This record gives sequence, structure tokens and C-alpha cells, in this order.
Amino acid sequence: MTVHTRYRYELALCIPTHPPIPASPTRRPDLRLLAAGCSDSNSSSHSNPPPPPPHHHHHRPTFSSSSSSSQPPSTPTSSEPLAMPEEDITKYLRQSHARVFEHNRAWVTEQTKKDPEFFVKLSAGQKPEYLWIGCSDSRIPAEQITGLQPGEAFIHRNIANLVNNIDLNVMSVIQYAVRHLEVKHIIVCGHYGCGGVKAAMTPQDLGILNPWLRNIRDVYRQHSEELDAIPDESARYNRLVELNVIEQCRNVIKSAAVQQSYSKNKYPIVHGWVFGLDDGLLKDLNIGFEDMLAEIQKIYNLEDS
Ligand SMILES: [Zn+2]
Repeated sequence: MTVHTRYRYELALCIPTHPPIPASPTRRPDLRLLAAGCSDSNSSSHSNPPPPPPHHHHHRPTFSSSSSSSQPPSTPTSSEPLAMPEEDITKYLRQSHARVFEHNRAWVTEQTKKDPEFFVKLSAGQKPEYLWIGCSDSRIPAEQITGLQPGEAFIHRNIANLVNNIDLNVMSVIQYAVRHLEVKHIIVCGHYGCGGVKAAMTPQDLGILNPWLRNIRDVYRQHSEELDAIPDESARYNRLVELNVIEQCRNVIKSAAVQQSYSKNKYPIVHGWVFGLDDGLLKDLNIGFEDMLAEIQKIYNLEDS
């Protein structure tokens, strides 16, 4: 089998922002909002899904325009451009933006009703037990699938949950989470059907994504013997998702912050998990943290002497 046949995937399916395997009943981020948030565990974007705001019976924005000629356009379900008149696009964008603020106000009301002290506690500080390093994929809301509440998880997400030692972002997150927040667990969570991993299996120039995806291509190279022995393409893809998680766990363990904290405190423990889009279940890959740490320290020992 040549490299090209082994890696052949249709490019259109492989761009990470358009994951190839939609979660059951298509659940696209119909707002098309790209949220850039803080990792702060108190500013969860996913814990307790906000109830629909009053007067909104559908997730889709409703149109209040008095113009009866324009029907409310339906929520887009594909990566096609919005198929509606220009005037409606403007309304759609305004309303899909406003909807988030309506949900936010409803969430504040709900939280305050459940616990009048909720925001007093939230503003007092954070002491999360978990650092979550996951994929940016919109279908894997870390807190929602784990039942964690605001304040319980420090979150970092990027395409294909990579931990690259020259990525200042993820390395700062790890250092801060370990040394200052003193998290007890670090979870690297990948997912089957990961568009980033699939794109890395595509032998094509993907521009700015090349250096990022090369980390996954390197994982393939390191494990090519095992992967090439898997005849079924989707089984091989699933295994690469798992191996990528395991390699990113190794990268977390290579950091000085983790090694030094573990030798002093016996935490954090690093875990590798994979989320299944088709059943919603988390799978623990049982990476064997202590053995992995011992193996890594033969070469990458950064413990204080
Ligand atoms: Zn992904």
C-alpha cells in the first residue's frame, strides 16, 4: 500500500472547522460564532446549558421585521454560504448575536434562583481540580459532558488537542494550572471523528495548518508500523486519534511543572481520554501515568535536583 492510498481522504471532509462526522441530529454551531474566551474555570461556556430565553421557542433566531415578504430563514445546516437575501443575512447575524446575550441573562436568572450566593462565590476565586486539554470541536463541551460546574475545570482547547512544547499558549496554561492553581488531574481529551486528525492524514498542503498538523503527522510516523498494519481505514483513523492523545499526554509529562509538582506532591496525574460522538461516552485510555513518567524521565528529567 503506498503512502498516498493509505492517506487518501477527500479534502473537503477534512478541514477541522467542518468536522466530517456530524453529531447525531446535526448540531452545528449555528451561530457561527468563534468565541475566544479565558481558560478561567469560573467562566465556563458550557456548564448547565442555559434554558431557552422567554419568547424563544426555537434555537433559531426569530424575525421581528414587519416586512411580510421575507420569511425567517432556516438555520444553516451545511457549510454553504447563507442562502437568503442580503437583508436577511444582516438580520440573521444581528439576532444570532443577540440570542447569546438573551441566553446569558436567562442563565444568570437561573443560577441566582438556584443559589443566591452563586456569583459571590464565583467572584471569590478559583481552585479547580482539573485541567482539561481538549479539541476546539464545537461538539465536545468539556463541562457539559463531565458534569463539572464553573470553578471546577481550567480549560484549554485547540485543533486536535495538541500539546506542543513551543506553543506558548498551552505551555503557559499547564504551568499556571500546575504551579498556581495546583490542579490534581490533567486530562488530554481527544475524540473520534476529529477533523484535525483526519486533515493530518491528508497528503495535501493545508497552508497555515501545516505546521500545526505536522505534530499529528509525526505521531503517525512514530507509530506507522502499528497503524499501517490496520487494514480498515476508519479503524486506523480511530487508532490515530487514540495514539495522538497518548503522545500529547507524554508531552504534558515532559514539562518541568508537572514533573516537579508530582515529585513533591504526588499530583497532578495525567490522563488520556477519548470522547465518542456517536454515543457521548468518555473512554479512559489508561495511559499508565507512573510508568510513562518513569520512561520519560530517562531522557527528559526536569525534576529539581
Ligand atoms: Zn477534533
